[in-house]
Amino acid sequence: MAGVLNTLSLATDLPGLAAQVQEWLDDPQLSLMSRLKSLYQRPAVGYFPVYSPLEIFEAAGVYPIGVGDVSHDAEMALGESRFPSFVCSIVKSTLDLGLAERLRVLDGVVFHSICDAARNLQAVYARNIPQQWTDYLHFPQNFDSPAASEYLASEYRRLMRRLDAWTDRRMTNDDLLAAIERYNRLRSHLRELYRFRRMHPDLLSTRVLYTLVRALGLLTVEDSLDLLTYARGLLTRQVPRTRDSVRALWIGAFCEKPPWDLVETLEEAGIAIVDDDIGLAHRWFSDDIPLDGDAIMALATAYCRNAVPAAVRHVPLGDRTAALLQRMQKVGADVVVMTVAKFCEPGLYEYAAYRRVLAEQKIPHILIEFDEHMWMFDKVQTDIETFVESVLLN
Ligand code: SF4
Repeated sequence: MAGVLNTLSLATDLPGLAAQVQEWLDDPQLSLMSRLKSLYQRPAVGYFPVYSPLEIFEAAGVYPIGVGDVSHDAEMALGESRFPSFVCSIVKSTLDLGLAERLRVLDGVVFHSICDAARNLQAVYARNIPQQWTDYLHFPQNFDSPAASEYLASEYRRLMRRLDAWTDRRMTNDDLLAAIERYNRLRSHLRELYRFRRMHPDLLSTRVLYTLVRALGLLTVEDSLDLLTYARGLLTRQVPRTRDSVRALWIGAFCEKPPWDLVETLEEAGIAIVDDDIGLAHRWFSDDIPLDGDAIMALATAYCRNAVPAAVRHVPLGDRTAALLQRMQKVGADVVVMTVAKFCEPGLYEYAAYRRVLAEQKIPHILIEFDEHMWMFDKVQTDIETFVESVLLN
């Protein structure tokens, strides 16, 4: 291992590694991040889900931390005091983490135009936690316009200028190309892991994959590559679990984190997840970004032309539903599991779009509304078990 991950003593089997990573993410003191920050000797910048241009942070020499990946306990009086009850949980929990000074490891936070709730969060966060630097990236929505890439490139250049001023250095095109190359490698590793899970969901559970993907939000790209390489080495020691199950495409975990136990409940009930939309910040592009020319234009063009499906990215309804059916065919999924975070408008719009086409095509699906703090799973478990039985018996 080339990075600092080798300073940690990692578990020697996959379930043990997943448990270890979960401890890092659930630690209320965020101790690992503080430790890594001092080892990396870089300023730390948090990024809100769903997507953030991590290559720019890497080229700027800052340590990117996914604020949506760290866990939050159920008490969030501080976060709730600034938002109405009909706002999704991750918006309130992120503000709560900031107000409770649990994000003091961060020197700044970048938010994005993914939805109205996140848009408001940036303003409320900046006003209440003025000691942290914040920025807000506007992503384009009209991808038919040839101006979309140029517009996004100008947003990225604006962010770069701010980071340059803040870090007192000047990013070059070569810095960015080197960062893109590292993230291309990381995405390629992830695609490989996803391919593996698609073929062997009995060997690589989604519970383990979900934990690993969330861990990437705590690590630099070098350490992320090391962690995935290490985890792949452990895959050969896994013993397959044989049981009746249905192959499912899981949609709706793109922003707020579904609780660990919800993922476990799905798998225990016989859902073999073969594709999902978790951890999109590290999986945003379906192909490598070109490594020559203007790096910022390449990054912006890839966002507009080469991104994976995501509820927070505007795509015409017909294209969206056609992509769903193609994706199901590609990954060999028989059913769809839709988890929608409470009060998440992009998630609910997506469900409304998919529900009709799934009914028309007679594809079974189940909708589960969740909250990151949900802790009772009895009803959900019964619903999922009933769903699985009805599919298996038909
Ligand atoms: S969970 Fe949904 S509504 Fe909440 S911030 Fe994320 S995308 Fe926006």
